[in-house]
Amino acid sequence: MANYKDYMLFDKLPHTWCAGCGHGVILQAIADALAMQELDKHDVALVSGIGCFGRVDDYLDINCMHVTHGRALPAATGMALANPDLHILVTMGDGDCCTIGGNHLIHAARRNINVTAIVANNYNYGQTGGQYSATTPEGSVTSTSIYGHVEPGFDICKLAEAAGTPFVARTTPYSPMQIRNLIQQGMSVKGFALIEIMDTCPTHYGRLNKFGGAARMLEKVHEMTVPVEKARTMSEEELQGKFAAGVLVNKSREDYYTKYRRIVDSLKA
Ligand code: SF4
Repeated sequence: MANYKDYMLFDKLPHTWCAGCGHGVILQAIADALAMQELDKHDVALVSGIGCFGRVDDYLDINCMHVTHGRALPAATGMALANPDLHILVTMGDGDCCTIGGNHLIHAARRNINVTAIVANNYNYGQTGGQYSATTPEGSVTSTSIYGHVEPGFDICKLAEAAGTPFVARTTPYSPMQIRNLIQQGMSVKGFALIEIMDTCPTHYGRLNKFGGAARMLEKVHEMTVPVEKARTMSEEELQGKFAAGVLVNKSREDYYTKYRRIVDSLKA
């Protein structure tokens, strides 16, 4: 039986993340999800972008590619089309995924590329000093919105769903087992899967928005979620400030590569 440790590079530890950052929880959950599936390391590849969470590939003993900011999905698209049997994970922060890389997210979802995107959404650009991103909630304080952010933030899951993603899920680092299980489920989907993790950045976003210490911020982020089954019974008013957690979308849709091959093969026949 494989263990998460089989997929880790322990000689690269200690990691560079701040004490109390949620990224470490997600790192272990990724390794755990690979172990649960007993995947051969050569059958897995991970593409990461720039940002604090982009460092996740430093600690994993699998094929990894670290690319420019916002461009993890295009790189992964090339990989998925060149090698359709590869299990491809894409790890991004909210800056990478839906701020500078937002357009790529829309098109990866629309095309239904066979990759599993894991988005650590900590509502700011942590690595460069806590500037606001496209998910920063309206009214939040960041280093570039010191009087309160005037723009509304994106809901990553709704955006992914609207663009055609067949598997969309959400959780928090408060529930590492759920992260692991959702990654595993996402990887079993032939097509684009997106798992948003409402992450914690106690150093910048948490401190400026008075979330308390790292542990309290973790609890507060968890308290902002409602199991999706319960959320479906709640009114819009009751759901104000709350986010459904669990599997939000799970539908069948032919992925890009399979569809392309089918069309080409039918023309050749
Ligand atoms: S700056 Fe924020 S997101 Fe980056 S490592 Fe520190 S706590 Fe984590």
